[in-house]
Amino acid sequence: MKRWIAGTALVAVVVAGAVATQFAQAQSGQTKSKAAQAGQLTTYPAIDDGRLRTHIKTLADDFFEGRSPGTRGDDMATTYVAGAMAALGLEPAGDNGTWFQNFELNRFTTAPRGTFAVEDEIWYQGKDIMMISRKADGSSYNLVDAPLVFAGYGVKALEKNWDDFAGVNWDGKIALVLINDPDFEAVPGDAVAGMFGGKAMQWYGRWPYKFEAAAKAGAAGVLIIHEDAPAAYGWGVVRNSNGTRFDFVRPDGGANLAAIEGWMQRDVAVELFRKSGLDFEALKKAARTPGFRPVPLNQTATIDIGVTRESVATRNVVGVLKGASRPNETVLIGAHHDHLGIREPINGDKIYNGAMDNASGMAGMLEIARTIAQGPRPARSIVFASWAAEEQGLLGSDYYVNNPRFPLEKTAAAFTLDMLAHRGATTEMEFPGAGKTSLDTSMKAILAAQGRTYTPDRNPQFGLFYRSDHFPFARAGVPAMFPSTGTTLVKGGVEAGQAATKEWFDQRYHKPQDEYDPAFDFAGALMDLTATRSLMLEVANAATWPQWTKGDEFEAIRKASDAARK
Ligand SMILES: [Zn+2]
Repeated sequence: MKRWIAGTALVAVVVAGAVATQFAQAQSGQTKSKAAQAGQLTTYPAIDDGRLRTHIKTLADDFFEGRSPGTRGDDMATTYVAGAMAALGLEPAGDNGTWFQNFELNRFTTAPRGTFAVEDEIWYQGKDIMMISRKADGSSYNLVDAPLVFAGYGVKALEKNWDDFAGVNWDGKIALVLINDPDFEAVPGDAVAGMFGGKAMQWYGRWPYKFEAAAKAGAAGVLIIHEDAPAAYGWGVVRNSNGTRFDFVRPDGGANLAAIEGWMQRDVAVELFRKSGLDFEALKKAARTPGFRPVPLNQTATIDIGVTRESVATRNVVGVLKGASRPNETVLIGAHHDHLGIREPINGDKIYNGAMDNASGMAGMLEIARTIAQGPRPARSIVFASWAAEEQGLLGSDYYVNNPRFPLEKTAAAFTLDMLAHRGATTEMEFPGAGKTSLDTSMKAILAAQGRTYTPDRNPQFGLFYRSDHFPFARAGVPAMFPSTGTTLVKGGVEAGQAATKEWFDQRYHKPQDEYDPAFDFAGALMDLTATRSLMLEVANAATWPQWTKGDEFEAIRKASDAARK
């Protein structure tokens, strides 16, 4: 699509200013690097607080308009990252010798006035229910008198002998499904307890999985019954994140998707069940029982939503530091540059700046790139990527996994930076997906050397491992790690950290209030980034390959390409 030329010109000026210092640094760094190769310097420069701030402040400026995919802010952000990578001495690794991997997306936007009506009651888009369609042909945005069927947790896991869709012809019907997986609310002694990882959310618990599973079953619509605790976020996040949806341009126009996808507030479900003479809590309990089968409501729903579709162009940015001795083997680190753009105002602000989410991760990625570029070059290549369109389905990283610039079977590990620590020094880092790969062992040693600890994710019910850009790599078999902020603060301990986390999710996460604040204290982030860089360098210099833990859900797919790594 047509890019916004004036914006690109303007950003070139911004980039020139922001990276001028880095350019000088990179130049002097090359001298250092030669010295390093001669063995005179064995360390890498420190991750720099000031440079992190410059990147975050710039990318989270209102000028970038929240960096929504396909907008001029998206163009400016990717132009900025490419400029920064060039200044740091990386080589372009996108399409045709450029920095960019270009691809097209469909952007679906719902009109504000959608309705969901049963015989004698009507609920409204945004307040009670959030619905959208990704059907590119526009034929199926509305459903008339579609039967409603409760499909438990919307899980079809044949290896566990579990099928919430069994025994129903789903043609024309709407599946109502619970969020998270069937053992989330299990109590010890329940047959289901532990079958789906206990409190930890697995892929089966995530909403994209449920949309996929309902569509495979043949449902015309799928609506998730939203509850804050099992979703791990409030209705505000559902509402703010889904008025607009992005999707790949599908050759079949989305024929295999459910026509209507969405969420309803728990109260709406309770009322729908009541009208059918059913008790929501009782059925929810039944849904936790092995052998649960779908339960029809005696209600039909008429859904009326307006959806517009535009196709937009977006792009990943990919740069590489070529390995000194095994350049065809790679270690990859990425951070998404997109955020939510301009949306419904909250407290008078409509620009969703995404300073923490994820200008901070991009800043961290660029700082790791700068400091590795200025030190001794590791054996394997290191790939740095800025991912497009993460917020609504990890589309940029997924695109890369389907169109890799370096073979995935020789990608030793993939890392994601998404939201840095900004509340001061921490005594730990936390790891969603702890225990999944052999990378853990190295990371534990690195953190111990920092006098800090490796902590498994405190909130495994969030399913964070499945929610950022390393996940498409994991699904493709590449050992993946999501090095995340620790909760325990040096000043104030775990209580202060938990209070800060709560404040973040309540007040700022996915809201216009996620803005740069000079009061951010990046002491924890500096340690986290240093540890992550150490692990990347260790992998990049190793002769061996990181492994999935025996029995892990992604072990088999990696094994299938073992021969390529002999
Ligand atoms: Zn993010």
